[in-house]
Amino acid sequence: MPRPEPHVILFHSAASDPRWPDAIRRALPDFEVRTNLEGIAPEDVAAAVVWKHPPGMLAPLARLKLIQVIGAGVDHVFTDPFLPRHVPIARLVDPGLTARMSEYVLLHALALHRRMDETVRAQDERRWEFIAPAPPARTCVGILGLGHLGLACATTLRAMGFRVIGWSRTRKADLPFETYAGADGLAAFRNACDVLVLLLPLTAQTQGLVDSRFFDDLRAGAALINVGRGGLIEDDALLAALDDGRLRHAVLDVFRQEPLPADHPFWTHRRITVTPHNSSATDPDTAIEQVVENVRRAVSGERPLHLVDPSAGY
Ligand code: NDP
Repeated sequence: MPRPEPHVILFHSAASDPRWPDAIRRALPDFEVRTNLEGIAPEDVAAAVVWKHPPGMLAPLARLKLIQVIGAGVDHVFTDPFLPRHVPIARLVDPGLTARMSEYVLLHALALHRRMDETVRAQDERRWEFIAPAPPARTCVGILGLGHLGLACATTLRAMGFRVIGWSRTRKADLPFETYAGADGLAAFRNACDVLVLLLPLTAQTQGLVDSRFFDDLRAGAALINVGRGGLIEDDALLAALDDGRLRHAVLDVFRQEPLPADHPFWTHRRITVTPHNSSATDPDTAIEQVVENVRRAVSGERPLHLVDPSAGY
């Protein structure tokens, strides 16, 4: 007798919203949603819905049709040496996550534009330092990464009145703002920015992109917001650039090691703002529909939404 079609959805995440497994159960009642494989034949798993799964977890799932990552970044998926490379990998494009990210980037771009870093230092020293308010159009915010999140942030920043420019891997000719592309475009791009926003995926090409050389030709008074991944930045180069004044301030949400170790110099640096990777997060309320649609597509042989290109790493 042929084996019945795979009917199990394997969920794994140690860090996501705890409502996820029940949200999937409610939304996909024809599937059995499991958080482990106890008593389950691996070949009965149709889809894996995961965030930072343990290496090797997916390899035995012989009839897996979809790896659905419940986040926007997928760098951790490719650290699994046993990743079943033939299975489609999809990421989420979650309107809730996008909205929270746009808020965070706007919040910190405004704070940097209004020089809140200097105002806070002045207050610490009981110093009345009048910093004249300037219109946002005088601040150029450069977004590295013009994907789903970068473009949403660009729209929000432009609506606030900022001058926005962007940088991406492939050229974007049809955007309503100035764009640069590839390694050739990077020097001119970063030299034009007052605030740089990192919204790049972590890949072999972007790892350590923000190094000592990167800081050498920034505008005077430039500041940085990193909401991409910690590995985009060389930590020592960042500290050196802050200490010798090439960089005015850094807002960091993501780190090479998370949680950021208690003895890391970023915690106490007066020119660094640390947030605990909470600029944004996936919200099951706004993302569940996409998981449902992708499981439906995967089991019926259709192409899932928001597939990752394993050769590009994002
Ligand atoms: P997308 O895949 O939609 O966009 C990625 C962008 O980066 C694209 O514009 C792409 O260029 C560009 N890019 C990739 N590689 C390079 C390169 N080598 N040089 C220049 N540009 C490059 O991703 P999202 O916008 O959805 O997300 C971006 C990242 O944000 C995620 O990968 C994740 O790391 C991070 N993130 C962080 C969160 C947080 O809580 N801090 C939450 C969610 C995401 P092109 O357009 O040419 O392909």
